[in-house]
Amino acid sequence: GSTIGILGGGQLGRMIAIAAAQLGYRTHIYAPEDSGPAADVSPNWTRGEYEDAAALGDFADSVDVVTYEFENIDPSAVEVLATHGLVRPGAQALRVAQDRLAEKRFVCDLGGLTAPFAPVESLDDLESAIGQVGSRAILKTNRMGYDGKGQARLSEPGDAVGAWNAIGRQSAILEGFVTFDQEFSVILVRGHDGAVRFWDSSANVHVDGILATSTVPAGALIEGQVEQARAMARRIADALDYVGVLTCEFFASADGPVFNEMAPRVHNSGHWTIEGAVTSQFENHVRAICGLPLGDTALAARGVAMRNLIGDEAHEWQAILSDPANHLHLYGKHEARPGRKMGHVTRLSL
Ligand code: ATP
Ligand code: MG
Ligand code: MG
Repeated sequence: GSTIGILGGGQLGRMIAIAAAQLGYRTHIYAPEDSGPAADVSPNWTRGEYEDAAALGDFADSVDVVTYEFENIDPSAVEVLATHGLVRPGAQALRVAQDRLAEKRFVCDLGGLTAPFAPVESLDDLESAIGQVGSRAILKTNRMGYDGKGQARLSEPGDAVGAWNAIGRQSAILEGFVTFDQEFSVILVRGHDGAVRFWDSSANVHVDGILATSTVPAGALIEGQVEQARAMARRIADALDYVGVLTCEFFASADGPVFNEMAPRVHNSGHWTIEGAVTSQFENHVRAICGLPLGDTALAARGVAMRNLIGDEAHEWQAILSDPANHLHLYGKHEARPGRKMGHVTRLSL
């Protein structure tokens, strides 16, 4: 049997490992922690840093294909990794998706619509960026942000100093605030042969910067913009010669779908596909990176609703299980810290 190497040992790695095991593959996690949600289901675990190019190279040599649930590995380590065997999705996808500025420029070059943006390396830059994109804006660190972390909102020019300090005075991007009605994601899988399949797009609701719910069908407004958003996501995937699952987040605005960001991996807004689609995002990711035919992405119910269990919400598990329609997923995290994703629950309407 073959072994899939996974960079990152969180819940996404756990769910990739479960899908891999079902298809007869072994998995080997590489992560900076001693253990994590993926440890319960993956037979091998190597502790190592994402900046350690030599250790990453050794890891890549010890497995048949490398994939990741965490894209923020050091750029120089990405180069080394790519010389040590098969990395799917490839180094170019990692480079683009881990840097918000590179990502926005890449999508604009492909003809996509994004928020107006400007690079920010200093307080002076920020002042002139405000002149360019307006004072109603969001300052985001270029790298490492997730769940709304590393972001500061501005509503007037006088907010510049506070925002610059709030994000820790580091390489950033200023984005004009987009007026939108709803958010949605396009999740696709692209095979090694270039074949592309899309799952239905879910309407995503965020609370305090963290995904709270994903619902399919997404409703008329989003459905009216999905075709254009899919065309954009496909152009991105083709341009990166992408292999695996790719997620693109969009705002449904009056001007059509506005690209927000991409994740070069399986995504929280696709967890509903485990029960709600013929083939889940995790299974199709494994199929794609292992060069297998892709499974059907069609919806397997009339509708699906996924809700994240954040922090203490995971303590509701008994009540959740008392309704036989609920599918409960817990990630095996021991400490229910506020804002921490502990699990999720999925309901199908049949
Ligand atoms: P994720 O956990 O999805 O990776 P993130 O930390 O990378 O999140 P973003 O997706 O960039 O952050 O932003 C988080 C949320 O903030 C978005 O889902 C959206 O609701 C809001 N947001 C981000 N950028 C803008 C913008 N330019 N205009 C208006 N709202 C925005
Ligand atoms: Mg993000
Ligand atoms: Mg996001």
